Amino acid sequence: MNAPLIDPFARPITYLRVSVTDRCDFRCVYCMAENMTFLPKKELLTLEELDRVSSAFVRLGVRKLRITGGEPLVRRGIMTYFEAMARHLESGALDELTLTTNGSQLARFAPDLAALGVRRVNVSLDTLDEEKFARVTRWGRLPQVLEGIEAAQKAGIRVKINAVALKGFNEGELFDLQAWCARRDMDLTFIEVMPMGDLGGEDRIGQYWSLKDLRARLAERFTLVDLAERSGGPARYVKLAETGQKIGFITPLTHNFCESCNRVRLTCTGELFMCLGQEDNADLRAPLRAHPGDDAPLESAIRAAIARKPKGHDFDYSRQEVSGQVPRHMSHTGG
Ligand code: SAM
Ligand code: SF4
Repeated sequence: MNAPLIDPFARPITYLRVSVTDRCDFRCVYCMAENMTFLPKKELLTLEELDRVSSAFVRLGVRKLRITGGEPLVRRGIMTYFEAMARHLESGALDELTLTTNGSQLARFAPDLAALGVRRVNVSLDTLDEEKFARVTRWGRLPQVLEGIEAAQKAGIRVKINAVALKGFNEGELFDLQAWCARRDMDLTFIEVMPMGDLGGEDRIGQYWSLKDLRARLAERFTLVDLAERSGGPARYVKLAETGQKIGFITPLTHNFCESCNRVRLTCTGELFMCLGQEDNADLRAPLRAHPGDDAPLESAIRAAIARKPKGHDFDYSRQEVSGQVPRHMSHTGG
């Protein structure tokens, strides 16, 4: 009955990323337009529907849940959902419950998250310069995020920093960011900017800073030891021999990571995307709403979707034009 989810390329699906809102208190330039129109509330999965669909995935073998958005911690009542997911940690059905956040609300929520069994969070932070932070996030305030990070660490949650590598923006801060993370015992992952959404005329190619170049610069100062560790996703890790610190590189554009892909993504409206780079998706909200008391149609819809998971994605920057671009915003699909 509850056979695990295996896709047509024999990849077990054990990792679900759930976007719980399209809203955010920031407007990062690479993610959102300044004047975003958000979805009407009725389009969003309710907290109860989020619980039902996430729990169905856990029943079908998902071992890791990452909650994202938009900014997950601005969704009203979100702790109710975290509480619901914590029961799967307690039962042993789930190995990890985690989130990706901009950190702005962490000071408020870190103790509760820790109490519910959240052991690690990813905090997105591209710069340590207050003025530059305000520029890249448009609406964000650096001190608030730094407080959030501190609160998370104090609550015993491990923090990993995710920084989008942006040409001409945080290039000069590479070693400052690395040293700052090392002092706080935080791992650091760099993300190549992806051709998502509509930046209102801003030039994405101009912002693209190849992680190959970033890595080469790190290697001028440190000995990089490749780690075998694989997350099943687009991240590769090295250890800096001199500091022992782990540095990750998320390179969806320059490396093919699809062969080990173990993940699918659920949007806040209940669309399941089987591949970040492809448009094909399955509507899970329809079976959720049509059968409030019965999860069997939902499970069938999930199985049918996984049976369509494609082999790989289509992003390609190689011709210096954005081909394979998908018109979705990261805040919708969940980063
Ligand atoms: N609001 C949360 C945050 O910022 O961490 C979670 C959602 S956000 C969409 C998830 C991640 O996607 C963030 O680390 C963000 O930097 C990254 N992101 C957003 N737009 C991106 C883009 N165009 N290319 C690469 N990464 C992007
Ligand atoms: Fe908000 Fe995260 Fe997108 Fe920035 S990257 S606008 S914090 S969702």
